[in-house]
Amino acid sequence: MQWSSVVIGHNSKYVSFVDVEQANAIELLLARGFWAELPLFSYAEFMIRAAEVFYDDGDLVLAAAMSERANARLRQYCAHTGSGLFIDRPKAVSQVLIDIMQAKVVLGFITGHEIGHILQKAFNPGAAPLFDWVCTCYEGSHLDKNGGIPRERFLLPEIIQKFDDDGQPNGHAIQMSKMVGLLHDMQRQQIKEAQSDALGVILASDAASTAGIPVDVLFSILFDALEYTEMLMVLRRLLPRLPRGEKRASVPLEGSGLVARQIMFVRLARSLRDGTAPAPEPIIQYWSKLSEKALARIESLIDNGKVEELSLRSEVTVRGGIELALYGKLAPHRAPEKLRTAYGIAAGGLIVAEAHRGCPEALFKIEESFDGTPESKLDGVLYGFGCAVRDICALKASETHATGSIRRADILKDGSDAAFVEFLRSARTQIFRMELNPHWAEDFKALLRSPRAE
Ligand SMILES: [Zn+2]
Repeated sequence: MQWSSVVIGHNSKYVSFVDVEQANAIELLLARGFWAELPLFSYAEFMIRAAEVFYDDGDLVLAAAMSERANARLRQYCAHTGSGLFIDRPKAVSQVLIDIMQAKVVLGFITGHEIGHILQKAFNPGAAPLFDWVCTCYEGSHLDKNGGIPRERFLLPEIIQKFDDDGQPNGHAIQMSKMVGLLHDMQRQQIKEAQSDALGVILASDAASTAGIPVDVLFSILFDALEYTEMLMVLRRLLPRLPRGEKRASVPLEGSGLVARQIMFVRLARSLRDGTAPAPEPIIQYWSKLSEKALARIESLIDNGKVEELSLRSEVTVRGGIELALYGKLAPHRAPEKLRTAYGIAAGGLIVAEAHRGCPEALFKIEESFDGTPESKLDGVLYGFGCAVRDICALKASETHATGSIRRADILKDGSDAAFVEFLRSARTQIFRMELNPHWAEDFKALLRSPRAE
């Protein structure tokens, strides 16, 4: 249950393990986002992913706690709407996303991405023109030349968020010098990711064009899919770093690599549309139909620096979720202009480190978004993410059982591993059926020696 794909090499032979669950995870989020579903339904997905990670790490107590909290939130929602056992899911369903899923476009993208990593390791000459093109494009894109001094826009420093024993925010460390030391490695890493993404785009395009999916749709879906991939990756890395059984914390978060991936994706789209990227003819044909308007809209976000704001959302949201969980509220927000006046060009890192304090608290409180409708245009996936981070962090910080003090046999009495996993995913099962299972905990009583009360 790693929901990430890996390439494993031995004696210059490489095997890629493409995790279908990773494609499923991204598709579920795409559906939530595309259909403008309430944050609660993305929230449940992130809680389940967290439960799976803790389960994999052998932290069964926390895994169970995630599932219980997700179930409690579902019940809270139904009580709020007064719908009894019925789980109301207002949404704006469109056929096109169903087509995307049936055509396995996301799986195509992930498979292509992983094949890209194999080809890099094997120095495959067939992929060389595309990979070289990505390299050249990266060189031409990573500096923002607007304004006086060219600004590196692809590499962002790691920020460590700190809290005292009582959860009081205690500043942050911005790892600027660490980044400078790793600059070259980080750039090589980003180029590899962009090369793999390019191959992923080509495989996804093949699947999409065969299924008759308009290229404009593919363009917007892949742009979003990159963000959801990032969210899942950020969550995966975050979980072991959150404090367990205490509020004192020092949580490092790498600078988001999403800015680079999204900008490189848009550059590739432009080049495929113009027919200048080295790609198979049918793919060029397919992309030639991309509407100038859709492309230009995203390109303008790159030109005016807005894409950074968009790409940093997950990172900013994570810090807000943690602060709310440990401190109980967000510390006062210092306006970016004030920081710029006080710290000059060094203010950039601080502005990012404190950006979450300017976010609405509802971004981290699932109980405040129960009344939404598809028309309220709340970004359900982002809100679901922020709310999940807050609940996960709060649960982990308050967990008093030591890791490993409760063993599998203490929780799993008679049940199989499969039954326990079903328990971890029970919120999703109920959401799919749009019906609460009032006996959800009792069904697992044989498994759980003593279910934890909410
Ligand atoms: Zn990769």
